[in-house]
Amino acid sequence: MQRICVYCGSSPGERPVYAEAARALAGELASRGVDAVYGGSCKGIMGVLADALLAAGGKVYGVMPHSLVRKEVGHAGLTELHMTETMHERKGLMADMADGFIAMPGGFGTLEEIIEILTWGQLGFHDKPCGLLNVDGYFDRLLAYLRHAEQEGFVKSAHLEMLMVESEPAALLDRFTGYVPPAVAKWRD
Ligand code: AMP
Repeated sequence: MQRICVYCGSSPGERPVYAEAARALAGELASRGVDAVYGGSCKGIMGVLADALLAAGGKVYGVMPHSLVRKEVGHAGLTELHMTETMHERKGLMADMADGFIAMPGGFGTLEEIIEILTWGQLGFHDKPCGLLNVDGYFDRLLAYLRHAEQEGFVKSAHLEMLMVESEPAALLDRFTGYVPPAVAKWRD
């Protein structure tokens, strides 16, 4: 794996544990020689991750629509900052640039991004690994909801299993290496 896309909060969160986890993920990526692509912001957990990976000698690629760059949230020190016209175009480019996807704690944006990329995976539009870095149980309620959706027949078990969940970056990245995409189609032909 050359490059991982990290979805994470543009806010710092209430507790230092989130920034600490971003620094830990950056350290783990750097030690494996894996670069990151992300939303390009200097704010919140996004900024912490980018700063930590750059400081550790890694490459960090930002992808951001012009409108957000104009609001001056763009990180000025990235390896590359790619500009797009729209948020949709931006997410497509981030997906194309990455070999796998990790969501860290975040808000609406983070949730939307990881669920969209899982959706593309279950439809067979990509076969790249997806995972949650479940920092201090942050995603436990989301996981309970997803299991409910599985039990109620809206999500197939094989598709829920696509989402790897670990609390430590090393464990998650280890699982990414051996990822096998599901052989189950969303619908029967
Ligand atoms: P949120 O979780 O709502 O803070 O949104 C963060 C996620 O949405 C990130 O993974 C970004 O890719 C995207 N995003 C949200 N706000 C920004 C921003 N100001 N600049 C760049 N990307 C953003």
